[in-house]
Amino acid sequence: MSCTTARFSFELYPPRNAVTAAALPATIDRLAAAHPEFISVTYGANGSSRTSSLDVLRYILENTDVSPMAHLTCVGSSHAETNRLIREFMDAGIRRFLAVRGDPPAEGDAGDDGLGELRSAAELVQLIHRVQAERVPYQEVPVPGLPAAREVDTGRERVQIAVAAFPNGHPHSRSVSQDIDTLLAKQAAGANLGITQLFFHPDDYLSFAQRAREAGVLFPILPGIMPVTSPARLKRMLELSGEDLPSELAIQLEIEPTEEGQREIGIAWATDFARRLLDGGAPGVHLYTFNRHEAVLDVLDRLDLLSFANPTTSSRTTTEKEPA
Ligand code: FAD
Repeated sequence: MSCTTARFSFELYPPRNAVTAAALPATIDRLAAAHPEFISVTYGANGSSRTSSLDVLRYILENTDVSPMAHLTCVGSSHAETNRLIREFMDAGIRRFLAVRGDPPAEGDAGDDGLGELRSAAELVQLIHRVQAERVPYQEVPVPGLPAAREVDTGRERVQIAVAAFPNGHPHSRSVSQDIDTLLAKQAAGANLGITQLFFHPDDYLSFAQRAREAGVLFPILPGIMPVTSPARLKRMLELSGEDLPSELAIQLEIEPTEEGQREIGIAWATDFARRLLDGGAPGVHLYTFNRHEAVLDVLDRLDLLSFANPTTSSRTTTEKEPA
């Protein structure tokens, strides 16, 4: 896939306090001006961010021309609760979802694994499709060119349902083949896009994507990428992903004394990483933004992905700093 035709998307998380909430609309506006395919918004397992996630999604829907994607989790919930949650998001106008199971709390009741009634992301995918089908009334519509004829129109709008993929295996899976089987189960349930966990070596993704394709996974799998612009950001990223430390990048960041130098290392690294993935056949890149626009837009600019979308973005972003 050549860089200039690759698709890209962004991930945000709901703000955690009033200060970050006040800053987020400007970030979203800057990200939306780059014309991503979608902007996804994470969801706290067990519903902890239900309102704040929906607020961010509504902002994207009402103030930009970009399609929002809602992450949803099902861990710890009943069928009825998850059904209501999906309905609420659909009523708000959301038509793209990232269906993830979520992690149960570490300390479950004895004999209870904390997962709830829906046991996996694949079951959540199925439920989203079911809710979508139930919401749309059955109707008969005229057949063009046949005045007396009527046909059934389910009126069903297509929903996009993305799912998580783990190039280096989910921490709880027993083997890579189990992860591929899980992806196949998600596909059978109606998922039509994969987005990966963070990883640090292009071949992790490229070999996983090839194995998935050979096993029959038909939907595109977007690699998730985060520009790591400081040692603190790298530490946080490793905590979030549970991946092994990329020692070369870690050393470069540690020995560079200036923040500006660290930022340049992180952006150059992410650009090279994304280029190798795209050259290797990735259908696009999904950028973890950490709720900041500068670094991800710089990466896209260096990949030449912004030139048609927003020619004014480049020079401005290179001079802006962002915190760890
Ligand atoms: P599943 O795919 O259902 O299962 C995870 C693993 O468990 C599988 O890979 C498989 O190895 C094993 N497994 C599942 N079903 C079976 C089975 N029937 N038999 C045997 N083994 C099985 N978490 C949040 O809380 N909020 C978010 O917004 C969020 N967004 C994410 C976005 C991305 C792109 C990614 C990669 C992860 C995200 N997560 C999020 C984290 C996710 O909730 C956790 O990784 C969770 O542990 C598993 O979710 P899953 O959807 O992969 O689960």
